[in-house]
Amino acid sequence: MNRQYVYAFADGDGHDKKLLGGKGANLCQMTQIGINVPPGFVISTEACLDYLDGNQLPDDLMDAVRDQIGRLEAATGKTFGKGSDPLLVSVRSGSALSMPGMMDTILNLGLNEETLTGLIEQTGNERFAYDAYRRFIQLFGKVALGIPDEKFDEHFEAVKKRVGVKADVGLKTSHLKEISEKFLEVVRRETGEDFPQDVIKQLQLAVEAVFRSWKGKRAVDYRREFNITPDMANGTAVNVQAMVFGNMGDDCATGVGFTRNPGTGENEMFGEYLTNAQGEDVVAGIRTPKPLVDMQEEMPEQFAQLVELRNKLESHYQEIQDYEFTIEKGTLYCLQTRNGKMNAVATVKTSVDMFGEGLISKEQALLRIDPELLEQLLHPRLDPDSLAEPVALGLPASPGAASGKCVFDADLAEKLGRIGEQVILVREETRPEDIHGFFAAEGILTSRGGKTSHAAVVARGMGKPCVAGAEGITVDVNQRLANVGHHIIHEGDIITLDGGTGEVFLGAIPTIQPEFSVDLKELLGWADEMADLQVMANADTPDAARVAREYGAMGIGLCRTERMFNAKDRLPIVIDMILANTQEDRQAALDKLLPIQRADFIDVFTTMSPDPVTVRLLDPPMHEFLPTEQQLLGEIESLSLYRSVVRGRQTAIATLGKSSPLPEPFSDLSEEMVLDVLTKKELMLAKVRELTETNPMLGHRGVRLGITYPEIYAMQIQAILEAAVECARNGVEVRPEIMVPQVITATELKRVKSTVDRLTKQLEEESGSKLQFSFGTMIETVRACTRARELAANAEFFSFGTNDLTQATFSFSREDAENKFLPLYNEAGILEDNPFEVLDIQGVGQLIQMTVERGREVREDLKIGICGEQGGHPKTIQFCHHVGLSYVSCSGPRVPVARLAVANAKLREKEFAEWMQAGSSVSEGRSASL
Ligand code: PEP
Ligand code: MG
Repeated sequence: MNRQYVYAFADGDGHDKKLLGGKGANLCQMTQIGINVPPGFVISTEACLDYLDGNQLPDDLMDAVRDQIGRLEAATGKTFGKGSDPLLVSVRSGSALSMPGMMDTILNLGLNEETLTGLIEQTGNERFAYDAYRRFIQLFGKVALGIPDEKFDEHFEAVKKRVGVKADVGLKTSHLKEISEKFLEVVRRETGEDFPQDVIKQLQLAVEAVFRSWKGKRAVDYRREFNITPDMANGTAVNVQAMVFGNMGDDCATGVGFTRNPGTGENEMFGEYLTNAQGEDVVAGIRTPKPLVDMQEEMPEQFAQLVELRNKLESHYQEIQDYEFTIEKGTLYCLQTRNGKMNAVATVKTSVDMFGEGLISKEQALLRIDPELLEQLLHPRLDPDSLAEPVALGLPASPGAASGKCVFDADLAEKLGRIGEQVILVREETRPEDIHGFFAAEGILTSRGGKTSHAAVVARGMGKPCVAGAEGITVDVNQRLANVGHHIIHEGDIITLDGGTGEVFLGAIPTIQPEFSVDLKELLGWADEMADLQVMANADTPDAARVAREYGAMGIGLCRTERMFNAKDRLPIVIDMILANTQEDRQAALDKLLPIQRADFIDVFTTMSPDPVTVRLLDPPMHEFLPTEQQLLGEIESLSLYRSVVRGRQTAIATLGKSSPLPEPFSDLSEEMVLDVLTKKELMLAKVRELTETNPMLGHRGVRLGITYPEIYAMQIQAILEAAVECARNGVEVRPEIMVPQVITATELKRVKSTVDRLTKQLEEESGSKLQFSFGTMIETVRACTRARELAANAEFFSFGTNDLTQATFSFSREDAENKFLPLYNEAGILEDNPFEVLDIQGVGQLIQMTVERGREVREDLKIGICGEQGGHPKTIQFCHHVGLSYVSCSGPRVPVARLAVANAKLREKEFAEWMQAGSSVSEGRSASL
């Protein structure tokens, strides 16, 4: 044998999980640091791959196994396959990544007619021996010989029924003996051969079976589900270990432990055990296990050993461990250990505590937490004990869970919200004029649109749960109901949303409230110290700015001013501005908007003082502020009917020649008034038709609006600058940044800049003080990337609008792609992630990298950030750090996740740079093959 396939626990490299599997590597490490582990050896994953390749065990493998068995015999003083003190072993799978329950395990291997007698002799416990024997025959029969459990179970159940017992413990030795004989017969009948008596043959068959289970359906499905690639885990190792028994008497026990409480993070003995029992008994729940602390009274000496084991595990692994142990005749053995899985609260607390105890460094404390885990701490979650089944599934567009009465329009949502009702706003898709409904609602559900749809972005900004694009739901606003499969949801029915999973439930489901603990604050403080990138928030209103501040935002990276236009008292003015046919009329509306915008800016700037606030000038196409054509046609139809009624009434009165008292609604509405409203609606309809575009997101929006209606941008710029003057006057230090959206050429920037310069000069003269602000551009068109040098000459900062830039790079509609073909693309592996959620490093990322380089060639200190929805995602953040951005900006409630992610990006920068180098060639190959 050229290759070494087999490693004793005392010799194997405990850090090589790929070769020895996670379990095997840990058994080696524990053995080598002096923890009492039953002796054993590992057969490597390479042996598994070679076996699966050639359909037979590698040459000489069994010789090496025999060798190791000899060492085990020497270490334990027992003999394998014979004698009065027989060696029994367990045979367990274990790949590089833990795949709980996915592959096979065999216990008590080494039992045959002869060793059974030996075991009885040695233990003096015939019942114990037969119990072990019947368990082994069934497990080996199933795993190694492929005999279904039912073939054994029917005999087992028949004996139990005849004897009249429910649980196994009620069976006597004679019953177990009878069952063992029946099981041997089953093997004979099913395989045509006797149960193997040669224990080396048993071992060989068991090893082959464990290797084969790597390709079993369960394991293959699991790897697919959790995206475990061969790069992460390839093949399973086999661990062969001397059996120790927790069921040989009252000085024996078995149990599982966590080195700290995985629910709270508390530093305490945590776990359960059973005396005189096997591991299986703990799992099967036949007897109720006791908490570990009880052991202090019951087995004080062993408890002390257990405390020592736990301390040794933690100080060696510098991580919370999830371990299994057995006590055989008073001696404690550790059978396995792995990193413990904990909830977010416990993960944060243990990080802070372990640093305090000097067990880990601040860097380790930060790195051991997956930033995404923090989401759990920041939003209400559905009670995990709830067993409710969802009725529909949409996109998990904004995390958190909420229940409330289903309401189909924003006005009603607002009305009910005002009287304290909890409501969920349900729409086909939302529009800017629904904003008051968002404020009132606990959560938002739409049947159309993706993760960058209006509903998703606004909900995320407000920290409210949103399920978007739940296409299984048909909303019928006129009938005030929604159809979901065979269910009908009427307005007022209670529903529950889980914005973290995209699930929709009927009825109310209890939720668990979030907590921003002292520990989390401390941990994020360390993160801020460590990071290069700053974390800004996308916040559009003074309230959102305050929330962002609480979450630790270091400024506002994107304030979408159009959101300020949508409040109920402002929308009519904005509509007047849009309907205006002359510049004077438009200016009159803008004059009314100016003080409103200025007041908002003063509030936002003051909240964020002295940090920067990036204000984006108007971006969306105008028609977004107007009702839809369909809605207007409906209203015009009703108004026309109403006008006919009014006219008919006048004709009737004139004909009758008398003025009779009128029914209520008619008394205060003259034909003139109806006509007035009708004319306004018809004007609006004409405007809506005039503004209609086939692709509005690629149409008359952003700076194109600012160029065609310069007075709109002038009003906004004036409001920003006047707010800055006012703040300075109040002694509030502010740093406004004026940002232009959708730019394609430096000429556009220059034109807007000339307005900025004109107004600055005017204001500085009036106020007698120097204005402090900066001027920059969004980068969200491909052309802007290619013209980065020219843009940088005219901008002090760049902000990547990766929602639009992704749309433009892929030519995918950001409104539709996520519901139509993107899931299939992800499932089929054509695209690894949703590029509207996680930045597409290979495509959009290349454009970003090029833009950064070109921009900084011209302006070395160019400040560059990202403000698309991807900006809050840890993988995106790593890339942003890698290419040297100055900041990331994300929705306020996402800020804590981003704060941890920016620190982790810094700490892992080398690793990521290597991944980038290796990754780009891999992905080239991959995309070429697709
Ligand atoms: C973007 O395009 O990434 C962006 C932040 O702007 P919006 O989503 O408002 O178009
Ligand atoms: Mg954009």
